[in-house]
Amino acid sequence: MPIKQGPAALLDDATPWNGLYEQAAEKQNDLVSEVRTAVEYGMHDPVDSVEMACTAAETAGATVQALSSPWSLYTPQDAATVASALFVQLRYSADALAELQRAVGRVVERGEAELVAPAGAGESTNLSDALESLRALSDTIYGLVARHASTTVRALHAAPGSAPVPADAHQTVAAVAALLAERREGTVTLNTGHEDGDYDPHDDDGFGCGCDVTILVDGEEYNFHRGDSEWSLTRASDGLETSSGSTVYDSWETMSTTLKTAHPQQLAGDILKVLAADQSARQGSVGSLRVVTTDRN
Ligand SMILES: [Zn+2]
Repeated sequence: MPIKQGPAALLDDATPWNGLYEQAAEKQNDLVSEVRTAVEYGMHDPVDSVEMACTAAETAGATVQALSSPWSLYTPQDAATVASALFVQLRYSADALAELQRAVGRVVERGEAELVAPAGAGESTNLSDALESLRALSDTIYGLVARHASTTVRALHAAPGSAPVPADAHQTVAAVAALLAERREGTVTLNTGHEDGDYDPHDDDGFGCGCDVTILVDGEEYNFHRGDSEWSLTRASDGLETSSGSTVYDSWETMSTTLKTAHPQQLAGDILKVLAADQSARQGSVGSLRVVTTDRN
């Protein structure tokens, strides 16, 4: 997701609870930009209404999916920003339900549709009753947001967190190397491509700071590095020598996050998963060799 990381959002006493959402939405975000461009272009017909309602439904579903990822949030402050946006979404959903009732009313006023009168006592509920219930639900949602949004967002934003979130790509690589070294002593090497502190995170063409990590396991040499704005792991055995003497790779493992300042444990976990899968594949192939040998005997 091409979202630019910036300094942590601010929420002082003078900033309303929805300020975190507003600050985050202002950062470079292709999805938000696309919606804002459509809004600026103007929305005046049913195609616009249907498109926006469907986009909202898609993004609401995608939010559930994003949040369900094991590493969906690193800090309470991440949670505060998401909560701020979710409360804004809830309030807009209430507005949309109320607006739906008014829009249907306009169709009826033009004489282009008929709306049955609200059901009387003993009659089953109809469309008029349903629209009225949705309007009442909107009032309930406004009340919930008014009562809980500020408390929730402010408490999360103020909560101390201890996640070792790196400040730049170099810190990420170094922290991953340290974590891997804890797990596999003596086989992990951090290869530095610059002097200490001699890396400007703003001067980054997608290849991070140039440092990488080699991991030697069972005769295979892995290399963890940043390239093309993502984190990758290559195996030396996949390297192809070119006529110019350099080594190229036509296959590699891509880590689950492209975030330059990813949680080191997330990346270390991805790497260890690849190492474990390779190890079990090697054991599997040794196992089948044994079977072949047994058959020959
Ligand atoms: Zn570095």
